Order: sequence, then structure tokens, then C-alpha cells
Amino acid sequence: MHSISTIREPSRSLPVTGAYDIVVAGGGVAGVAAAVAAARAGATVCLIDKMCALGGLATLGNVTVWLPICDGRGRQVIGGIAEELLRLSVRDLKQDDRAAGLMGVPSCWEAGGDPAARVATRFIARFNPGAYLLALEEWLLAAGVKLLYDTRACGVHRARHRITHLIVENKSGRSALACRAVVDATGDADICHWAGEATETLDSNVASGWFYYLLDGALHLSQTSHPYSAALLAGELTSRGYRGDDADDVTAQLIESRALIRRDLSRLAILHPAGTLQPFAPPTLPCLRATRRLVGAASLREADMHVWRDDAACLTGDWRRRGPVFAITLDMLRGVTNRNLACAGRCISADCSIWDCTRAIPTCAVTGEAAGTAAALAVRDCDGDLHKLEIGSLQTALRTRGNLLAPGLVAAAQA
Ligand SMILES: Cc1cc2nc3c(=O)[nH]c(=O)nc-3n(C[C@H](O)[C@H](O)[C@H](O)COP(=O)(O)OP(=O)(O)OC[C@H]3O[C@@H](n4cnc5c(N)ncnc54)[C@H](O)[C@@H]3O)c2cc1C
Repeated sequence: MHSISTIREPSRSLPVTGAYDIVVAGGGVAGVAAAVAAARAGATVCLIDKMCALGGLATLGNVTVWLPICDGRGRQVIGGIAEELLRLSVRDLKQDDRAAGLMGVPSCWEAGGDPAARVATRFIARFNPGAYLLALEEWLLAAGVKLLYDTRACGVHRARHRITHLIVENKSGRSALACRAVVDATGDADICHWAGEATETLDSNVASGWFYYLLDGALHLSQTSHPYSAALLAGELTSRGYRGDDADDVTAQLIESRALIRRDLSRLAILHPAGTLQPFAPPTLPCLRATRRLVGAASLREADMHVWRDDAACLTGDWRRRGPVFAITLDMLRGVTNRNLACAGRCISADCSIWDCTRAIPTCAVTGEAAGTAAALAVRDCDGDLHKLEIGSLQTALRTRGNLLAPGLVAAAQA
């Protein structure tokens, strides 16, 4: 056994292997939305992901329910790239299959659909993660984004309150990507953490692993998870809680989640003694809901329900309840000490009262579009400084691209 607790790594020069207006770290739904939004706004963009596919939890975690982009009272509150991404998720679906968890966009939400039916039926989709992963890659590349798979962001280089380079590791070794702005879409606020932003971590994640199985040749989806909702909100867990920002903790969550999957398969084998049962496509990302997040100059809170903000960058409904609409401001999406850092997805600045809402796929996508557009406009207009970005120009650009950024939508709708 060695007794020393640290070793000194020799200092070395890193090759700069690329230079972009914007580097997006993380290719989940939020990162993909951010990268495409920034590219469409004219920026040169590189998106990196440590995995070898896009979609993050939505595809590699089998989290295949695109939760609603409406308010549950018949009004659509999220549009733009998020709606594009929702529709893309079921683009190739020919027929619903409830057992396999597949469902196209409800007909009332198609053009010319019955508005009255929209009050009862929410604007959601249930997709095939394999089809989505393939479609996302094609869609991202068509927007002209440079993609680097199998590339983990592992540090930042900073100068004068800016991130000048993202340090990455991949098959080519360790190198630096030069950037004028960064979008942290890692889900775990990795970039914010390394860049010295204030962050907060929840340790209330449970073992979870949505997985597929084949029973007599038919595909089924099992939404296996320890109970979490009440635990997350009340701070009381019925199982061990995980943080997701530590290697042993992440591994332990994966191992316990796979034990849960095995237990589920044993239960299914008892229920179907004569059936042929096969596990199929277990998740390959740790299914952690809320890990580390940015603590920005402002954080979204439950108390912000139905309150319009003049610095709003996007809106979100609430998948858990009908009615609530929230305005998410630019301050909730940008670094405090790093002027060229934007944040998107489940690691934006939102407190515990509302984190369970903002971590859902629609909110991740809409914050991705807002963060990517903000970063691109900041590069174009103010040398990447998101604190100098004029909010009116961001709002105009987002509205032009189909985002539903209207004060009237934040007000409570009639029940
Ligand atoms: C069990 C479970 C069930 C859920 N159910 C639903 C549901 O039914 N509907 C719904 O809408 N939402 C659901 N959610 C939430 C939702 O799936 C996620 O919060 C959302 O998909 C997160 O998107 P994201 O892009 O912010 O982050 P992620 O999907 O976590 O993507 C982050 C990406 O960044 C990459 N990455 C991370 N660190 C690095 C790094 N250092 N360098 C490079 N790449 C990195 C990862 O590989 C990943 O691809 C569920 C979540 C869980 C865990």
C-alpha cells in the first residue's frame, strides 16, 4: 500500500486541436438543442460527448417519454427547437405500441387538430430510443455542427473571467479546444464546477433503470425505479441516495440499478412461467435525475409560477401538474464569474422546489435553445460576453425562430 495521498503530475503543453465560436459540452437533448440553435444563429460550433451517441438520458438512459410542451390547459407553451425535437423523436413511428412505450403526437396537437381536445390531452410523445439516436445525429450534422464522440471534458482554461479553452480527453489523447463561449450541457454542471461557479448537489437520487424486455418476441418497456418523488421533495428516501458527482457513487448507483433490473426480470419470469423472456437494451448511462446544478445570479423557484420577467429567455410548463407556467430568465442560464459561460438542461439554476420540473426533457430542450442562441448572439455582438448581451435581441431572435416567449402565456389560464 502507498501512503502518499497525492502525486505531482509533470506540467505539459497541450495541443489545441480545434477553435470554435462555441463549444457545447454534453450531447443530451439540451446540448443538441443548444448546438443546433447556435449553428443556426451563425456560430461555428463543436459538440462533444463522452458517450458514442446523442440524446443522453433520453436515448442511452431509455427515458423515452417526451413530457408535455403544453400547460395542461390546452395552450402550447414551448415551441421552436423543442417542438422540432419532440416531433423528430417519433418521425419514423408508423403505429403506436403501448407495451413498447411508443406513441406519436396526439392528433389534436397536429395542424387543424381539435382545440377543445387539447385541454384533456397533453402534447407529448413516446419514442424509440434507437430511432431517436439515429435521427438526432443526422439532424445535428445537417445543421453544420462539428461532432466529437468519445470525448470527455475534463477541465477548463480561464483568463480574465472567461473560459478560453475546454480541456478534453479522447482517443487522440488530452488536448484543448479554443472557444469564445461555452455551453455546459453535461447534466452535472461539470464545466460550471471546474470554472469556479457556485454549484449545489442533491444526494437524493435513487436506483433507476428503465429497460426493455422481449416476452415471446414482443417488445415491452419497464420503467424500473425506486420511488423518488416524495423522497426528493421531502428529503426522505426509502433507499440509499446518490449524488452523481463522484466515481464510486456513480458506480454504486449503476450496480444497484442493475440489481433492480434483475429483480424485475425474476418477477416477470414468475408471472410468465411458460414465456420466453429476454432482457433487452438496459440503460448505458447512470439514470440520475438531479445531480449538480449551477447556482446562478437568479434561480427558478416554485414561487415564480405565473410571473412574467422582462429578462425571460424561455417558458416552461410543468409535467406534474396542469396549469403552471414559468418564465426562465437569462440569469438562470449563465455563469456568474465566467462571462462567456451558458448552462442548459437539468443543471440550470433552479432550486429544489422546482428542480423536479426543470429536469424534464421539454425544459432541457427549451433551455438548450435559449442558451445556444444567447451564446451565439453574445459571440456575434459582444465578444462572447453573455453579461453584455442585450436581452431584447435574444428575445427577438428566439421569437423569430418559433419560441413562445409571450407574457400572456405565463398568466394563469382558465381551468
Ligand atoms: C429514471 C429517470 C426517468 C425520467 N423520466 C423522464 C420522463 O419520463 N420524461 C422526461 O421528459 N424526463 C424524464 N427524466 C428526466 C430527463 O430524462 C433528463 O433530465 C433529461 O433528458 C436531461 O437532459 P440533459 O440534456 O440536460 O442531460 P443528459 O441527458 O444527462 O445529457 C448530458 C450529456 O452530457 C454528457 N456528459 C456528461 N458529462 C460530460 C463530460 N464531462 N464531458 C462530455 N460529455 C459529458 C453525457 O454523456 C450526456 O450525453 C427522467 C430521468 C430519469 C433518470
